[in-house]
Amino acid sequence: MTAPMPKQDKAPQSQPKSQPKSMKDITALCKRRGFIFPASEIYGGLNGFWDFGPLGVELKNNLRDYWWRKMVTTPPIGPDGQPVQIVGVDSAIIQNPQAWVASGHVGGFSDPMVDCRETKLRYRADHIVVLIPKDGDENWIATADDDPETIEKRIKKVGKGKSVANFEQKLLTELDPSDYAKILGPDTKEVGSLTEPKDFNLMFETRVGALATSDAKAYLRPETAQGIFLNFKNVVDTARVKMPFGIAQIGKAFRNEVTPRNYIYRSREFEQMEMEWFCHEDEAKKWFDFWINTRKEFWLECGLKEESLTIRPHDQDELSHYAKNGHGTVDVEFKFPFTDPGFGELEGIAHRSNFDLTQHQEHSKQKLEYLDPERNNEKYIPHVIEPAAGLTRGVLALISDAYTVDPDRPSGVFLDFKPSIAPKKAAILPLTAKEDHVPLATDLYLELREQYNVDLDIKQNIGKRYARQDEIGTPFCFTIDNDTIEDKTITVRHRNSMKQERIKMDEALSFMDDAMRGN
Ligand code: ATP
Repeated sequence: MTAPMPKQDKAPQSQPKSQPKSMKDITALCKRRGFIFPASEIYGGLNGFWDFGPLGVELKNNLRDYWWRKMVTTPPIGPDGQPVQIVGVDSAIIQNPQAWVASGHVGGFSDPMVDCRETKLRYRADHIVVLIPKDGDENWIATADDDPETIEKRIKKVGKGKSVANFEQKLLTELDPSDYAKILGPDTKEVGSLTEPKDFNLMFETRVGALATSDAKAYLRPETAQGIFLNFKNVVDTARVKMPFGIAQIGKAFRNEVTPRNYIYRSREFEQMEMEWFCHEDEAKKWFDFWINTRKEFWLECGLKEESLTIRPHDQDELSHYAKNGHGTVDVEFKFPFTDPGFGELEGIAHRSNFDLTQHQEHSKQKLEYLDPERNNEKYIPHVIEPAAGLTRGVLALISDAYTVDPDRPSGVFLDFKPSIAPKKAAILPLTAKEDHVPLATDLYLELREQYNVDLDIKQNIGKRYARQDEIGTPFCFTIDNDTIEDKTITVRHRNSMKQERIKMDEALSFMDDAMRGN
């Protein structure tokens, strides 16, 4: 008996059409298949915190490892045709609090917020959309964000029969506070409950040691970048690096975001992949352009589609304090389902000038200059180009981009991950749980798992097992059947095309090697 094409698993007549992706469906799949769960779910969860399940952690680790490989182990070839030099660090999450004073986070790392006096809820002022009736009606309606669905629901509820077209949309921050009296807050019944915006520091505070005194106060890092600057001197003194070079770090960061939202896009605990590229000021522009192109290329290599990505330079008024004196900041943006047809930030590439090292030199009283033998022993504080990407936000981009609706298959959907990024590279499926099939499948599983993360799935009808693998984005299924016993061949089922072919069982490993090469 060869692995039959299960009845429902008919090959599609044409490639699946691009269909709108719903965040509701994507989050449901992530929950159902074990990618992402709300943190402490059995206690009702905690807003802004998420746990990665068995498949989510594999996917996140694959993206993390790929970034590390492309940045640290095999960094790119620079504009002069030579490989660039980047080393890694893994710094503490909690550092001396003075470091955060020097970096400007204690004084200035804040978002403008408004409180609602009626509900006691707090919102990001720059996210609130105010709907102003075009007919001059003085009842203005606010929503907590610009999500079209939220806006439509709110208008349905309190818009007195009007539709979206009857309103002009403005951001709260564009309005004069004297107009606030007319505004019905995002969750209120009465107008005039919103306060004027106040700055809210995003740093999570904690205490070090048993003393409850103010000098025991410390912070969870809001970015991984500062741990790199704090180790600049250590790396220069020990790692035999010479200008220009990079220091990279991947790890957790914490921000007490006012309104965590859009699933794991904006959470309070997340992971970053950051690299600080140190160079002489005269070369900063060259390297800025180099890193913008290289970083966009990286996301394409991870499998994100060209049409899902865009590069957006920041406007002058958006620039951070450190980027004002340099060549600015450019974001690599991704078309998330909740921003579509617009884009949202996936990674920022900033010219940070020499702001951070200068600040740390001043506050720590330690010399952080570089003595450059290649520039006649010129002493200078290097400039920095920083590609700063979100690891957890990257996972969301990978899942949303891979999510493909396909009514022609039983699962109705598959995840089109690149094989190298997919959490499972292949599934080994004995056609039946009959004794003859299982030992052969187990042999193949034991062989392949030495090289690749593969699944052995024994029970259930084959159609259901294919459907599960489609939903988790496994590129290949190897099916063991009666012919395998006879002639040692197995069926390979390809995820995207659902096409099947027969190969020799002892060629499965080289089949995988070929499929993974360059993928
Ligand atoms: P945003 O404008 O979205 O708040 P940011 O410009 O403050 O982001 P950076 O400080 O440049 O972000 O951080 C680098 C990257 O870290 C971002 O591009 C994003 O991918 C990720 N990131 C930042 N804040 C969060 C968050 N709250 N949740 C998840 N990822 C985040």
